[in-house]
Amino acid sequence: MFEKILIANRGEIALRIQRACRDLGIRTVVVHSEADRDAKYVQLADESVCIGPAASSASYLNVPAIISAAEVTDAEAIHPGYGFLSENADFAEGVEKSGFVFIGPRPETIRLMGDKVSAKQAMTKAGIPCVPGSEGALPEDPAEVVKIARKIGYPVIIKAAGGGGGRGMRVVHTEAALKNAAQLTRSEAGAAFGNPTIYIEKYLENPRHIEFQLLGDEHKNVIYLGERDCSLQRRHQKIMEEASAPDITPRQRARIGERCVEACRKIGYRGAGTFEFLYEEGEFYFIEMNTRVQVEHPVTEMVTGVDIVQEQIRVAAGEKLKYRQRDIVIRGHAIECRINAEDPFNFTPSPGRITSYHPPGGPGIRVDSHAYHGYVVPPYYDSMIGKVIAYGDNREQAIRRMRIALSEMVVEGIKTNLPLHRELLDDTRVIRGGASIHYLERKLAQRAAERDAKS
Ligand code: ADP
Repeated sequence: MFEKILIANRGEIALRIQRACRDLGIRTVVVHSEADRDAKYVQLADESVCIGPAASSASYLNVPAIISAAEVTDAEAIHPGYGFLSENADFAEGVEKSGFVFIGPRPETIRLMGDKVSAKQAMTKAGIPCVPGSEGALPEDPAEVVKIARKIGYPVIIKAAGGGGGRGMRVVHTEAALKNAAQLTRSEAGAAFGNPTIYIEKYLENPRHIEFQLLGDEHKNVIYLGERDCSLQRRHQKIMEEASAPDITPRQRARIGERCVEACRKIGYRGAGTFEFLYEEGEFYFIEMNTRVQVEHPVTEMVTGVDIVQEQIRVAAGEKLKYRQRDIVIRGHAIECRINAEDPFNFTPSPGRITSYHPPGGPGIRVDSHAYHGYVVPPYYDSMIGKVIAYGDNREQAIRRMRIALSEMVVEGIKTNLPLHRELLDDTRVIRGGASIHYLERKLAQRAAERDAKS
């Protein structure tokens, strides 16, 4: 096992990784920007290294600075967390070439899955059901594009092969709009992701987002930890997640889970990974694979008892997974609310000093957050300041406990989306479970209209 790990991330996930390291008896080095210097989780680490100014491009994305931080501190491995460099194959390669272990899959795997076109092709080959669409990248010739879209049938969605974070997607309802939309997505993709490749697939009208958590080691062991429902999204960004997904039968879980395991074996997958699917009328359609730990991993940890971050570290060190498939038993239900520093109505970011902070507690409540009384939320990064996770014997109890937790929680001095979460936990459609990926947007539009009418 490693003696020292460098954490190349910030905020709640940097703290989460530290906790896993502590439990495993591993010392930690956290790298940080000038803006995060005073954060408590930075002080909590065994060592810290400032790697640059506030802008992520100069700090959390600064590969040479991160690698030299590992060199000067004698860290053996680098955990990238999520976001930033976590799915950057060149970074993973650079880390390994410099003699450190990258805590994640092999660079080739990241590269294969990071390109959504090659990922879909690999998964189709591995027997994973995919959203019907173009066989590969869209050709330049508009006439060809029209032909392909006709074959798929409208509406279609044009997606960037290198897209991520809910960006680089465009829904097209008519042939008239197709040519322009393809052109626009292509040039945006080139500018935003450095890769103008686009592809096209059927736009599913009412799907749910259901994803499977996988773990693999270097000894050909691969297991699945069940699934999560992440359908409550705003602008393709998840805001509330749960495990298990409502109304998914043990048979469906086993069928898709086993296919994902097979696919991981075929590509020699190492570490934690997520297969994302859209689910409509009883069918699963693969959309992409994430080759890193995900924000919503705690709900799976709560229902399986597996510490996913510890398993990532274990397999990166060459050890075997602690669990076999038969050890994985899903018990109870867990829900996660992402707490963002933002206006709960118009969603503009709300950085600044937290003047009062009271986290919830009690049976089944877990709070993963780096926030505290007096903490200043910097304006430079993602607005998420933490996650509240509620576990219950069943979904009803998890919902009740989440409601109580949200009613206890106090964050003052900045705006947060706590009021929105409280509303959602009282929403009959959310309570029933199984809402589609469009439900939240529709609800928000309705809510905005009602507020406009009042004012
Ligand atoms: P990203 O990598 O940016 O997260 P994804 O491919 O995972 O992109 O898609 C993100 C979200 O976009 C999905 O959860 C879903 O809400 C929506 N989406 C993607 N593909 C489709 C599709 N074919 N039909 C309908 N919605 C889609």
